[in-house]
Amino acid sequence: MPLNLILMGPPGAGKGTQASRLAARLRVPAISTGEMLREEVKRGSVLGREAKGAMDRGALVPDALIVAIIEARLQREDCARGFILDGFPRTVTQAEALDRALQRFGWSLHRVGSLNVPSDEVVRRLSGRRTCRDCGAPYHVELEPPRRDDTCDACGGALLQRDDDHESVIAARLEVYARDTAPLLDYYRDRGLLAEIDGRGKHDDVLAALLARLNLQTSGPTLAAS
Ligand code: AMP
Repeated sequence: MPLNLILMGPPGAGKGTQASRLAARLRVPAISTGEMLREEVKRGSVLGREAKGAMDRGALVPDALIVAIIEARLQREDCARGFILDGFPRTVTQAEALDRALQRFGWSLHRVGSLNVPSDEVVRRLSGRRTCRDCGAPYHVELEPPRRDDTCDACGGALLQRDDDHESVIAARLEVYARDTAPLLDYYRDRGLLAEIDGRGKHDDVLAALLARLNLQTSGPTLAAS
């Protein structure tokens, strides 16, 4: 049975970082809908143009659009062993659509992890977040600064701030999370799938807590679900 996981949490909780690290350990893809949408915006595709307005305001793109994207993505071959979803689902409608899609594919959800980080910490993390334009490496102006201002240590690329990480948009994103996405915690708690994890602290400690709470045990170099 594929190892299908969801990573939830408010914007800035560290979902992207932890999803990538988990994915490398579990050898399944980390699928970030935000990342997929940003790629479309960069390419200037029809989809990107449709999504950009909502993204710039910190609002959600329409459920039907994002559900279609994710259904297509889950059918790609690299998901045969499982996947880690980061940033999807974000509404109950999306969660129900995911349930139906998984049922059609004959799959089920293994666990849902939620990274808990208080709002003041989230604002500090998001407003200082920078990403390399060329290789995507993440930085933070206070917590993980580059050696040279605004320049990636790894590839020398320019470090950029995401349009929606400006303070005016952060407040809107947090409101959307509280109103539309937080109700999903109960949705998964009621199904016995939810594991809440403290998202503060060192990356390695958060990853260790995630592996333990998601019931993923080390078995040699790879991991197996217990
Ligand atoms: P993220 O990188 O996950 O913070 O997503 C960035 C933005 O992309 C969000 O603020 C939304 O505008 C959009 N987005 C990403 N995932 C979803 C989703 N599942 N449903 C609706 N909008 C989304």
